[in-house]
Amino acid sequence: MHINAHFDSGNIDVQSAENPSDIRLRIRMDEGDEHGQWFFFQLSDVRGEACTISIENAGEMSYPAGFENYRVVASTDLSNWFRIDTAFDGTALSWRHTPETDTTWFAYFAPYTYDRHQRLIGRAQAAPGVRAEVLCPTPDGHAVTLLRFGEPAANKKSCWVIARQHPGESMAEWWAEGFVNRLLDPEDAVARALLERAVVYVVPSMNPDGAVRGHLRCNAHGVNLNRAWKDPDETHSPEVYFTRRRMHETGVDFFMDVHGDEALPYNFVAGGEGVPSWTEAMNQQFQAFKNRLAAITPDFQTTYGYPVSPPASSDLRKATDYVTETFGCLAMTLEMPFKDAANHPVPEIGWSPGRCQRLGASCLDAIWQTLDD
Ligand SMILES: [Zn+2]
Repeated sequence: MHINAHFDSGNIDVQSAENPSDIRLRIRMDEGDEHGQWFFFQLSDVRGEACTISIENAGEMSYPAGFENYRVVASTDLSNWFRIDTAFDGTALSWRHTPETDTTWFAYFAPYTYDRHQRLIGRAQAAPGVRAEVLCPTPDGHAVTLLRFGEPAANKKSCWVIARQHPGESMAEWWAEGFVNRLLDPEDAVARALLERAVVYVVPSMNPDGAVRGHLRCNAHGVNLNRAWKDPDETHSPEVYFTRRRMHETGVDFFMDVHGDEALPYNFVAGGEGVPSWTEAMNQQFQAFKNRLAAITPDFQTTYGYPVSPPASSDLRKATDYVTETFGCLAMTLEMPFKDAANHPVPEIGWSPGRCQRLGASCLDAIWQTLDD
């Protein structure tokens, strides 16, 4: 038997791998030792053997509730990901599986690799009217890349979409790929019309260091980037520092920050209701956006989500609150599930890369319909 995680986004430590019926593993914490939950590893040479796999420190991770009613993601080809019944007793996360192939990969969610990220950048920049700007190098030496769709002009709005500040939320970059694919489609009337009236700025991966390292939430310096927006640091949180600087250059008329939520089995958005400058007009614009998106795709819903922030409870270290307060525009955090969208579940795959991509495509319709607001 062989278990390893020495690859892009890999994360697991082996405690015991002598007996297939008693494979004991531990998740490695993010830099800074504060967060952890993401795992991704390869299990080999146990074809036909009944394996019991247990992650012994699951209960010590950032969001233990995320492992309740959760089903692990598995693949034999890194393209098709399926779900396996999984148990969580408050301490260990465990599942049984008898591989029909020599190698199986297991992950918290379908990984989105740095190679795929680079191909996305390459494919996008080859299209007419699309530019790829490196905003900064990261502490580990990756590039934070901004895709700009269209040329800025006085009569055009600036729409900003950023994804994957939290690197273990790989669904965010699957979403970004679906969103970008639609912008790249010359036969898509909505994309064409949107780009006549707006420049769309997309950062598909805000935290490539954390993604490659197999982190849940932090960058290479152990910084949670979505707590760095009020006072970003050129050295410790350059990903936010340089993105924010570019946003101040372009102005922002619409902003979406794309994430995944460990616990809630729904797609939902959270707004900037708690900021000091929040108005009833902003609230109406936000409610209208949610209702439009819910009408466009049944995978999105408005019933379940985070409690609405009370007035004057904002945290300007978070991107949505910072942008709402600074630019006075419609800004929101989109959350997708690690589990499934319980309003329209697909048990075999749960919430999946394909469903993320389609939700990304649907958000383009909602932005288009919101432009006149
Ligand atoms: Zn997040």
